[in-house]
Amino acid sequence: MNIEVRHELGDEGPKDAARQHLINPSEEMAKLGRSDRPLFTHADGIYVWDDAGRKLIDGPGGMWCTQIGYARREIADAIRDQAMTLSYNSPWYFVNEPAAELARRIAELAPGDLNHVFFTTGGSSAVDSALRFMQFYNNVLGRANKKAIICRIDGYHGSTQLTAACSGRAWNRPNFDLASDQIAFISAPNTFRRPRGMSEAAFLNFLVEEFRSKVAELGPENVGAFLAEPLLASGGVIVPPKGYHQRILEICRQHDILYISDEVVTAFGRCGHWFASEDVFDIVPDIITFAKGVTSGYLPLGGLVISDAVLGRISGENAKGSFFTNGYTYSGHPVSCAAALANIDVISRDRILEHVRETAPYFQERIGSLRDLPLIGDTRGTGLLGCVECVTDPSSEQATKLDAEMALRVDRECYEAGLIVRPISNMCVLSPPLIITREEIDTIVGILGRSIEKVTNELR
Ligand code: PLP
Repeated sequence: MNIEVRHELGDEGPKDAARQHLINPSEEMAKLGRSDRPLFTHADGIYVWDDAGRKLIDGPGGMWCTQIGYARREIADAIRDQAMTLSYNSPWYFVNEPAAELARRIAELAPGDLNHVFFTTGGSSAVDSALRFMQFYNNVLGRANKKAIICRIDGYHGSTQLTAACSGRAWNRPNFDLASDQIAFISAPNTFRRPRGMSEAAFLNFLVEEFRSKVAELGPENVGAFLAEPLLASGGVIVPPKGYHQRILEICRQHDILYISDEVVTAFGRCGHWFASEDVFDIVPDIITFAKGVTSGYLPLGGLVISDAVLGRISGENAKGSFFTNGYTYSGHPVSCAAALANIDVISRDRILEHVRETAPYFQERIGSLRDLPLIGDTRGTGLLGCVECVTDPSSEQATKLDAEMALRVDRECYEAGLIVRPISNMCVLSPPLIITREEIDTIVGILGRSIEKVTNELR
């Protein structure tokens, strides 16, 4: 059945088909059938084109994923070749070469003794599988109660029941039944929004003590995992104070709590390293989840990499006859894995990690230069992740509706001027393709700055 507005809007081909039949993520139900999302027709390098012929810089890197940029022949060739060689095989009974080789490569790139890879279909299924692994692990170890998960307010981990329940962004929760007595939240390590008058050092102590108290309140024998992004990406590029992850990891070790580092955004180069946990945040967690950048967004793929130490406790002689019966039809999909292998080759050959490490300080400095604009409360980031936070009323301790309205209007101005930014509440978030140059960073910051100034003048 078609929705009635069809004829009011006229038949515009694919856009009309989308309005009539496509349910998008984050669909505003009041506008179902009338939404006017731009349609992208093609892309190349760091640019995408919309159906109005606008050429736009991909400021958010799709959704934090277009690491090596669009239209790379190497990836297209790898996908075609694998599709013609072996387009599918059942991961429940067989293995394929690309999945085996990719697991080997990821084990080499991952920190410490994280040497075993389980493939999924994307980020949500990666985190979901990591949490299900924690449940399985504790059951095999005979610790049936040790299942509670501690997560952070403003964290984002995905859209399955379990990962959505672990996501603390208020925006994602209404009208879903996510409350669970197995999931507990602690504060986001958001230095900008820390209690007024508290020093950064005191804030770090507060965060660590909050975690310690939460473990004590739940009972360490009941806590299975701490789940955390190295930096809260969708929560607004919240980079924790230095030492935060190490101190929390210490507490996890004391109580045999698995530390799951959700690197769906940060892995594969976003912070200038294959993985950020060890090289940027100085920890070797028990499990790391990844997705997005592993294929630079060319095909869906995700996974987790687990330490030898953890696996050793429940495998071989310690397995007690157990089967880890979690998995997907497309776990280790050969074509996705071939795309990932080609992507890793391009990142290595083109020295993209080195490029990110060289370019990121300039990116951060240029984003930081926007902090002096009158209605900007904070700018922050690390690597090639940046955020500009709109604050129209400095006396307010929380973001206001007007702040969010401002970010939306800045987003619209940027779009008209040829730049996509990602508005999240009152924040404009950037995570461009990793191949971005200094000149392109200047263009991004120039457009963003002019758009902020224009909206500021309208609001005053
Ligand atoms: N984890 C983090 C940190 C994410 O940012 C996301 C998505 O943005 C996910 C998990 C879920 O990944 P996906 O959308 O591929 O399922």
